[in-house]
Amino acid sequence: MFGFNSIKDYQKNLLNGQTTCVEAVSFYLASIRENAHLNAFLETYADEALQRAAALDELQKSGQPTGKLHGVVVGLKDIICYKGHELSASSKILQGFISIYNATVTERLLQEGAIIIGRQNCDEFAMGSSNENSAFGNVLNAKDNSRVPGGSSGGSAVSVQAGLCMISLGSDTGGSVRQPADFCGIVGLKPTYGRISRYGLIAYASSFDQIGIFGKTIDDVALILEVIAGADDFDSTALTSKVPEYSLNLDDSGRKYKIAYFKEALEHPGLDKEIAKSLREFIRKLTDDGHTVEPVDFELLEYVVPAYYVLTTAEASSNLSRFDGIKYGYATKKPVTSLTDFYKQTRSEGFGKEVKRRIMLGTFVLSAGYYDAYFTKAQQVRTILVERTNIIFRQYDAIISPTVPAPAFKFGEKSNDPIEMFLADIYTVFANLTGIPAISIPLFTHQSGMNFGIQVMVSREDEKTLLQLSKRFVKGS
Ligand code: GLN
Repeated sequence: MFGFNSIKDYQKNLLNGQTTCVEAVSFYLASIRENAHLNAFLETYADEALQRAAALDELQKSGQPTGKLHGVVVGLKDIICYKGHELSASSKILQGFISIYNATVTERLLQEGAIIIGRQNCDEFAMGSSNENSAFGNVLNAKDNSRVPGGSSGGSAVSVQAGLCMISLGSDTGGSVRQPADFCGIVGLKPTYGRISRYGLIAYASSFDQIGIFGKTIDDVALILEVIAGADDFDSTALTSKVPEYSLNLDDSGRKYKIAYFKEALEHPGLDKEIAKSLREFIRKLTDDGHTVEPVDFELLEYVVPAYYVLTTAEASSNLSRFDGIKYGYATKKPVTSLTDFYKQTRSEGFGKEVKRRIMLGTFVLSAGYYDAYFTKAQQVRTILVERTNIIFRQYDAIISPTVPAPAFKFGEKSNDPIEMFLADIYTVFANLTGIPAISIPLFTHQSGMNFGIQVMVSREDEKTLLQLSKRFVKGS
């Protein structure tokens, strides 16, 4: 029976002849079928994935060089372009839309021998924290089907959690990789803004969006990052600095770190008591192990969620204006009296509730009378956050915090109260506002039976330290 621990082990088994790419793909296709109730995949590419697997097996047999991701079975959030395949952002408005090009990440995965097995359910246009906003139904947390998997990349997280593929790519604008990774007990990495090209990623809030990686181990995530990161002529915001070989030398040989945590984050009244206790114990253990761990004052914490929701909705209202029923996907069938009426009707029918809420909020904060009060103010908050963060990283190697204030909640628990849902993003949006890399590592189990992790953040472009430190945390020393 096929089993998966890490990409390295799997590729060793491929070389030894203990397994084949075809066996791996067949295994995952069967798992996806058996777990159809989780609703993690919107579509699988069974025939082509099997064909590609057979071709990769042949390539290896013939002794020709294979790519770094030879045979790695990957799922893509339904927001990343894969040429010739449907793409919907889990929205009705993109119905029937087929990608006409590959996202840069897709291209790079394929070049290194990965196999794309299907596209994964998510919150509509990546807006949400529970996957309750998909036009194609909820995704269930595999550990407890009455609980949410997190969002917006819920399908991608559950796919790794439940063993439906080896790796998933999602997107993280305010936590959509780290939060579902936390709820599903897996690793979720959001790199530095611009580290991975956004070409071929459907935009939500362009100055925040970053593609992220879900995996079972730090090493796997590091290897994927190494392949997909780097400069790209198609995305002028992609960083042009050299991509380190993230997968090499992840052992830091016992380095002692200087780590900060935000006092206000740990003392926050909304933080679950058990999560707070676990984090305190973790900090004590780090100190015992010889690291320096210190509280820093962060009185700005209460501003991060409002600033995030003002700025992202503003950007979203502009980005989503392209979905007008003419260029892509869905168009109303109802009789209309004018072009404006056609747009209105199509958008009213095509977008879901949360997306409409955000377009309206974004339009409001950008409107002439309110621009300075909301948009400009939030930009100022963002600037102050960046300055403050730079100062912290002059003194510390990393900042740690909870990833989410509470473990995976039950379906319906927060869906009637958008503010409550937004506030749960308190620990994750900071890294997107400042552009720094952040990861969620699964370290703990809550008395509710659900997993939760801790979040580690480092300064811009320092993913290597982030991965090394995370590996130390996973090893427990
Ligand atoms: N939960 C956040 C939101 O709804 C994060 C979304 C994301 O990162 N795509 O905006």
